[in-house]
Amino acid sequence: MSKNNKSIQRISAVPSNSRRAFIKNGAALSAFAAAGSIAGISPFGSNARGKSENKERMNGIQVGAVSFVDEGIDNLLDIFQKRGAMNTVFLTTFTHGRGLAGRQIPGVKFPDHGSQESDVKTFYGGNYATPHPEFYKNTVIKVPHAPDLGNIDILAEVLPAAKKRGMKVICCVEDQWHREVPGVEECLEIDLMGRKTGTLCLLNPNVRAFWNDLAIDFSKSYDIDGVLFFNERSGPLLNALGASHFQSIEPSRVTCFCEYHQQAAKKLGINFERVKEGYLKLDKFVEASLKGQRPSDGYYVEFERLLLEYPEITAWEKLYVSSKHEVVNEMYDAVKGVNKNLLFGFHIEHVNSFNPYFRAETDYAKLATKADFLKIVVYNNAGGERYASFIRNIGSTVFRDVPLEELMRFNNHLLNYGNEAALDQLATAGLSADYVFRETQRSMAGVKGKCKILPGIDIGIPTKAGSRKASPEDVYAATAAAYKAGADGCILSRKYSEMMLADLDAAGRAIRDSAKA
Ligand SMILES: [Zn+2]
Repeated sequence: MSKNNKSIQRISAVPSNSRRAFIKNGAALSAFAAAGSIAGISPFGSNARGKSENKERMNGIQVGAVSFVDEGIDNLLDIFQKRGAMNTVFLTTFTHGRGLAGRQIPGVKFPDHGSQESDVKTFYGGNYATPHPEFYKNTVIKVPHAPDLGNIDILAEVLPAAKKRGMKVICCVEDQWHREVPGVEECLEIDLMGRKTGTLCLLNPNVRAFWNDLAIDFSKSYDIDGVLFFNERSGPLLNALGASHFQSIEPSRVTCFCEYHQQAAKKLGINFERVKEGYLKLDKFVEASLKGQRPSDGYYVEFERLLLEYPEITAWEKLYVSSKHEVVNEMYDAVKGVNKNLLFGFHIEHVNSFNPYFRAETDYAKLATKADFLKIVVYNNAGGERYASFIRNIGSTVFRDVPLEELMRFNNHLLNYGNEAALDQLATAGLSADYVFRETQRSMAGVKGKCKILPGIDIGIPTKAGSRKASPEDVYAATAAAYKAGADGCILSRKYSEMMLADLDAAGRAIRDSAKA
């Protein structure tokens, strides 16, 4: 949530010299655009011309608009192609979050390129292309053009330059919001205690219409190659237990209990009052667990009893997950409705690597029917500290009776992890390249060839002091492992403004070497 949005409009995030460089670049590109694009490599397309297998792979990088503004479009595309062996730009086109947009996150060292000035005061987010109001008639949510970078339409600027080089452009669209965005207030989720939250209800028809309309706007208004949707939200059961790597555990804040959810309950024959009652009991159980107040039968047994007593708890979790996947399905249909050759992808978040229950909710075979590709997160460096956090989270509630190291070993077996570091060294060690290999293989087996698998490779994703930082060797090993497992490409993540150039070089080397193999 930004607290300083009022001052945003007056501040330019772009130093005047880089803005000039950008505009100069843009003017030159318009001339090229008139000449038409050079037909080239077509990842996933039928017109792939390359003889080597590499040319049919989609080798992409996630990048926010600010990097193009800071470093110049042609310069950046040069770096992506020559150093990173990239043929696809995953351009953050819609978000209000800093994970995919903005410069380096506050408090973390800048990489060796781009502006070294923090944009923490100027970053806001929104639609980095031009919103066309005619597409948003069925929703109260009206997202303006992102104000951080002036009037620049990043899609209109980057597309012709990328096409000229035969590079694909996929719009990255992320479910991250500011509460003050017009229309958002009335679409917010309601938590267990009846409070409004900062997230949007996935059953609210305005929210459904918005995602649909946004996908259509990008697909119709621009010559893009596709859309990649990010929605990293978990359901109320997993959130209540703290069954993730990043959250604080606040079971009374789980969602959603709004009127649309109540209507859905009625339709599905789920007793809403029992849902609330169950989650209130779960709240009490978790709060007591966090304080170490052991039930006489133990934490796990007490939890299982609660689920037996209130099957509505699981039903509510299922409803949440289904609604998230319905949004994915609808966006897929929206994009394909405009042009069936456009690609649609869905980002599978990191918790899928740690939590067996989340895995159970994430059915690759089903998702594959409504996606051309899945971006599976296999961030191995950051994965160490994240996995350790996950174990400590679940080890403070449901599995509190199990020593943490044993809990992790048990979980490793469930997840088919190999020989990873012990819990107290996991953050420093990170997860191995073997983890990348196994997760890639598992995903490939899961989708059964019905859609492509693009592992998201960790390139300098910020970690805490003392935790593993990516080195070029790590990046090479992880990227090579993904291809060795048979990946259809990869997506360097999270965003270019966090990446050291030597790491990008290492990814490029691994991609080129794997194409020769
Ligand atoms: Zn709701």
